[in-house]
Amino acid sequence: MRLALFSTKSYDREFFTAENAAIAARGMPSHELAFFEPRLTLENARLAWGFPAICTFVNDHLSAALLTQLRDHGLRLIALRCAGFNQVDLRATADLGLTVARVPAYSPYAVAEHAVGMMLSLNRKFHKAYNRVREGNFQLEGLLGFDMHGKTVGVIGTGKIGQCAAKILLGFGCRVVAYDVVPNDECAAWGVTYVPLDELLRQCDIITLHCPLMPQTHHLIDERALNLMKPGVMLINTSRGALVDAVAAIVALKSGRLGYLGLDVYEEEADLFFEDLSQRVIQDDIFTRLLTFNNVLITGHQAFFTRTALEQIARVTLGNVIAFERGEKLENQVLAK
Ligand code: NAD
Repeated sequence: MRLALFSTKSYDREFFTAENAAIAARGMPSHELAFFEPRLTLENARLAWGFPAICTFVNDHLSAALLTQLRDHGLRLIALRCAGFNQVDLRATADLGLTVARVPAYSPYAVAEHAVGMMLSLNRKFHKAYNRVREGNFQLEGLLGFDMHGKTVGVIGTGKIGQCAAKILLGFGCRVVAYDVVPNDECAAWGVTYVPLDELLRQCDIITLHCPLMPQTHHLIDERALNLMKPGVMLINTSRGALVDAVAAIVALKSGRLGYLGLDVYEEEADLFFEDLSQRVIQDDIFTRLLTFNNVLITGHQAFFTRTALEQIARVTLGNVIAFERGEKLENQVLAK
């Protein structure tokens, strides 16, 4: 099938080309892949005209207007190469008869391990120690951390990623509490205690977010939620930026309510992340304010970024395209609720 891939980087080209070659080596019909670097927008939608399938990523916002135009130019399948689908207007895809598929679980370990890595870095200040030692400064002042062992960690959303995070944290000897609209029996069997959301916010020393972004979870962590938290709490968000009200987080950082903040995602990340902006002036004043705090650690949506995950993303995405082409039942189809 002819597939137009948007928001692509060198690593997307590498892993998708390798998987496509592996498909051909198995004697199966491979795909015609066209890699485009920009995000797919209304302005450049013409690039996708004539392609029956597109492959997009987390910051390609697929609006009704864009989808209508592409459907009129032959689009039938949207093969997302990510787990989240909040960026797609699913009502529009349903109305237009477009099929949407995703990669539901490429490596939950990658994201969970990154979240726990952020906890350790914020706590033990590896990023500061690295620079200090390289400059010949072996003082320890300012590097004081705390034992994770015995601390109460709250996991919000115990699906595939949250479950992995909970397991790692139990291994550290943390007390793990969780909130989910659908509790996970496996987590409960490991000793994770499910509590109401407000109770979790009140009890925890560390809180990590692993629920999807939906209307119900937009700004789940707002001023009210932050005010319920323990003073000095650590908050980690590797899920989706808009789960956290960044302005409220800044207020909480200034007052000390938030003692540490680790973000791999940011509500307005679409204009920042995945690009080299080092020669430009960043215009987002909320983001630049976040960067000024010495207890804030930001990574640019890299939690998924492991070799294992990229291989799996390419394998499952092209598998979804093959299943669609053959008219088979699409296991990874995303349907409008
Ligand atoms: P999942 O669907 O397996 O789990 C999500 C869990 O959240 C489910 O258990 C669900 O019941 C729960 N949930 C739904 N609504 C909730 C609510 N209102 N409150 C609390 N919990 C709620 O998803 P997953 O694979 O674990 O991924 C979680 C999120 O991680 C994705 O939605 C995606 O946004 C994000 N993600 C980020 C990266 C990254 O690189 N930073 C990579 C992959 C996924």
